[in-house]
Formats: sequence, structure tokens, C-alpha cells
Amino acid sequence: MRTRVTESLGIEFPIVQGGMQWVGMAEMASAVSNAGGLGILTGLTQPSPAELVNEIERCRSMTAKPFAVNLTILPTIKPIPYQDYAQAIVDSGVKIVETAGRNPEPFLPLFKSAGIQVIHKCTSIRHALKAERIGCDMVSVDGFECAGHPGEDDVTNMILLPLAAQRLKIPFLASGGLGDGRGLAAALAMGADGINMGTRFMVTKEAPIHEKVKQKMVEATELDTSLIYRTLSNTARVFKNSVAEQVLDIESRAGKTQFEDIQSLVQGAKGRELFDTGDLDKGIWSAGMIVGLIDDIPTCHELISRIVMEAEEIIKRRLIEAVS
Ligand code: NAD
Repeated sequence: MRTRVTESLGIEFPIVQGGMQWVGMAEMASAVSNAGGLGILTGLTQPSPAELVNEIERCRSMTAKPFAVNLTILPTIKPIPYQDYAQAIVDSGVKIVETAGRNPEPFLPLFKSAGIQVIHKCTSIRHALKAERIGCDMVSVDGFECAGHPGEDDVTNMILLPLAAQRLKIPFLASGGLGDGRGLAAALAMGADGINMGTRFMVTKEAPIHEKVKQKMVEATELDTSLIYRTLSNTARVFKNSVAEQVLDIESRAGKTQFEDIQSLVQGAKGRELFDTGDLDKGIWSAGMIVGLIDDIPTCHELISRIVMEAEEIIKRRLIEAVS
């Protein structure tokens, strides 16, 4: 497969693994890159910039193919030394960065002077256009179906992707609701240059999370996600478990919710424990609506090969037949 994304990132297939907190470690990123996609290490999963440097080295020892680092700029419980993380990425010689959350403009001079390609994750067209204007090389257009933070506009990819195709000049990835060849073919048809998948990659053999979490996602339906933090304008789509329900209950009470009212339930450290132990009600974890379409736990290689074969089959047969 060849698109503007495969050409500029130097990868075989237009499939990128989204940066996922506690999941984007060297095992995950290298498996995706080795299978021909673009793996991504999640910067903030490492407790310090120095540990991120070590993780980048570890990933390099596991793949000779390109991989990226994600830097997410959103509210956090503890202050994050973003500039130091950005400098660590530059010093490590990584050539692709995925930014997400707030405007990445403050980091662009540093990244650009190091020859780094920046992919910014956007949940609206206005943010995508701004990213293009400030010099990002590519955007990832994140529809309302996505895991984690979908923004506050609630527009799905059926609308966002054609709009992005009409208005953007830079290449873009479709993100949110993607997990199979039908999704890849549809994203390409709507004008995207590739896809970004998070939830689907969580349910692979190499994802560094407990089997019970993966199994729960295999069993889940499209109705098994919840939108929390709506009252704080920091909406996140997470797996619907008892903790997410408690958060929603607190948010539905009269009066304004303060983050402190829910902090002990949602703190990332508990989410990490959940992934390590398989205790499914220890905290919250991000999951997209695509869980309804996930039925197995393949290797990254099996998954990517299957998606590409399925997309090619749809494009070469089903779509051709429809017009012949
Ligand atoms: P954390 O433990 O600091 O915070 C836990 C959650 O609470 C995060 O979702 C965070 O955004 C939210 N939060 C923290 N302070 C807040 C405040 N004052 N107001 C509203 N919400 C607040 O974070 P973590 O779990 O260690 O994650 C680190 C970073 O990665 C955060 O920026 C988080 O948003 C981001 N993240 C992104 C995704 C995703 O989009 N897929 C998933 C998980 C985490």
C-alpha cells in the first residue's frame, strides 16, 4: 500500500498505533513497527524524561524500523515537565512525534529544528486547520467514537473525515472507530491517508496489559463505553466498569463537580494497576466504541496483515464491482 502517510513516515502500511497511556511501551511500539505500521511510545508513561530516553533505547534494540513518541498535553494531577520530555525526545534522535491535547505550538520550533515530523491529534476541523497553519506535518483526526479524549464537539468520523479531506492540504490519519480492513478502506475512501488505532492494538498478544483486560474487551459490545469528565470539559471515553459508573454518578449530582470529587477514582496510577493485575474495577481505562467489533487477540503482525488484506479485497473487488 502506498499513501502520503506511508511515503512520508517510511512505513509499509498506512496503519499507526495511537499513543496510549500505560500501553505504549517498547513491546507494543516495536511489535507494530516490525509488522509494517508505525509504533508509538507514550512519553508520559515513563515517569521521567531520563526513563523515556531509556525506553526509546529499549525500543531501538527491538526494532530497526521507524517508531514515534507521543507527547500528550492535557490536565494532569501532578505537573509535567513537558519541555524536558520534548528535549529528551529530540536528544534521543527520534524523528516522528505525535502530539495530543493542547496546541503543540510551543514545542514546534524545537521539534522542527531537529528535523522531526509532527503528527498532531485533533478532535475538530478548526484544530486540524490550526495545526496545519502552525507547521504540523500531518494530523490525526479523532472522531467521537475514539477512546480517551474526544473533545467536546461530539462529531463522528463520517463527517470529520470528508471535511478534513476538503479543507486540509497536509496528509491526515483517521482515528477513532477503526479496527479492521473495512475501516481502513472506508477511511481511504473518505480522503484519509491512513488510520490510527489505539483500542484495537490493546487487544493484541504484545500489548503489555493483563489478559483479563483484553478478554473483557473481546466480550464487550459497542455499548460498553462511558463518557466521563463531561462536567469538567475534559471528556474521556473509557470502558464502562463500576468505577466509571461511580464517576458518572458523582458528576450527575446537583452543583458543579470539582476534579477533587473524583480524583481518587480516576487517577492514572490506579489505571496502571488495573492493567498490571487484571483487577477490572481498580480504576478506569480508555476504550473506544470499536470494542464492539473486536473478537480476538491476534499478534500485531496477524492484525496488520489481516487489515491490509481485507482492505485490498474490498477496494479491488467489492468497490470495483459496484461501479462495473
Ligand atoms: P493523571 O493521573 O494525572 O489524571 C487522571 C485523569 O484525570 C486524566 O485523564 C486527566 O486528564 C484527568 N485530570 C487530571 N487533572 C484534572 C483536572 N484538574 N481537571 C480535569 N481532569 C483532570 O493522568 P494519567 O492517567 O497519568 O495520564 C497522563 C496524561 O495522559 C494525561 O494528560 C491524560 O489525560 C492523558 N491520557 C490520555 C488518554 C487518551 O486520550 N487516550 C488516555 C489516558 C491518559
